[in-house]
Amino acid sequence: MKPRNKLQRKILKLSQGLSPLTKHQYKEAVRKVGLHIAKYSSKRGYECLDCGHTWTGTEAKRVVCPHCGAKLNVDTTRKRNFCEKDYFAVVTKCQGFQVVRMFFMQTNLRKGSEPTYWICEAFQRWLAPDGKCAIVSRARHWFAHYCDCWNWDSDMEIREENVGHKVTPWRLIGQSSVIPEIKRNGFDGNYHRCSPYNLFFNLLTNNRIETLWKVGQYKLAIYAIGNSYIFDKHWASIKVVLRHKYQISDPSLWFDLIGALDYLDKDIRNPKWICPENLKEAHDEWQAKKEAKLEHVRRRRERERALSIEQRYLEDQKNVAKEEAEYQKAKSKFFDLKFFDNEIVIKPLVSVREVLDEGHQMHHCVFANKYYKDENVLLFHALIDGTSIATIEFSLENFTVVQCRGVYNKVPQHYERIMMLMQKNTMKIMSKAA
Ligand SMILES: [Zn+2]
Repeated sequence: MKPRNKLQRKILKLSQGLSPLTKHQYKEAVRKVGLHIAKYSSKRGYECLDCGHTWTGTEAKRVVCPHCGAKLNVDTTRKRNFCEKDYFAVVTKCQGFQVVRMFFMQTNLRKGSEPTYWICEAFQRWLAPDGKCAIVSRARHWFAHYCDCWNWDSDMEIREENVGHKVTPWRLIGQSSVIPEIKRNGFDGNYHRCSPYNLFFNLLTNNRIETLWKVGQYKLAIYAIGNSYIFDKHWASIKVVLRHKYQISDPSLWFDLIGALDYLDKDIRNPKWICPENLKEAHDEWQAKKEAKLEHVRRRRERERALSIEQRYLEDQKNVAKEEAEYQKAKSKFFDLKFFDNEIVIKPLVSVREVLDEGHQMHHCVFANKYYKDENVLLFHALIDGTSIATIEFSLENFTVVQCRGVYNKVPQHYERIMMLMQKNTMKIMSKAA
């Protein structure tokens, strides 16, 4: 892409003047980013794939080569060839711009030969003190979704941002060189594991992030960079936190806590709630309360739905009589069934009205879902001392219990005993159905 404005033209020109990696930087990249492996077998001992040196020793996960001093990961498999691809960044400045240069590196190791390292610059991010930015980059192969599919034959040109530019390097090579505006906004040389470009861009353009960085709320700042919506939404609470010099140790937990407090109508600007001594404990406590309330609301909605269905049903008396008659006709032959042990009694629900009352008392949808209309369903309830403890949906198609629910659709008391009673008496139901 041709540069389209003065800024882009200037950046492209400056980019062409950037120096290649120094020998020192290259060595550091090989040491820190490259793959370093020692082959190990109990028979032959160690072989350093960096220099070929062999020695004996006991098996370990990591060793240092006594010849070349390389720190090596030990490999005990039969593998002979190793290839690793990775990125690293060089942070530099140029004519008032902050530049983050991204290099791609491929290491090839082969038992018995010299290791090879191939390093090539993939792209650069340029950032002006006012937050204006541009990318100078290689082209990507159009089919490539992987982050290392750059077209290495293409020129470094001004290009639109794409998914390939999202790679975040964890390794920096060489000393970082940073423009004064970024230092002024709080950067003291420590990235706190934030990607350099993201951090610089936000320090220059987002004064909330700048504030957090300056007071040492690094975790919160990094979280905010990736979750700007929730961060902005709760900025008022964060200001309270800052005023009380409260350190947010785990931002995602803390935002969860704020969400729960907010849902429960607690004052989320009150330090008593939002600056808890033990964040994890407070989070768990309020989260549980929120879930309980959600459950309560869900039940109430379900209840309202069931009630309105009941009401509508009862208003149409002609239909009530019709459905009742149909139910009697279809199911009455089962009504004298009765299974019991010394405590539990299981009986069919003998009218639509009884199904309605059962749903009402048990707070579930047996009526609202109109199971009674299904010709292949036989409904029972299990009672103790005349009170229902479970509603049972039994299939007349394959003669098994489809579901057995207690109050609020929970697993009922004595579930196993009820299921056993049903199983024991399946033959009786079958003989009625025949
Ligand atoms: Zn070695």
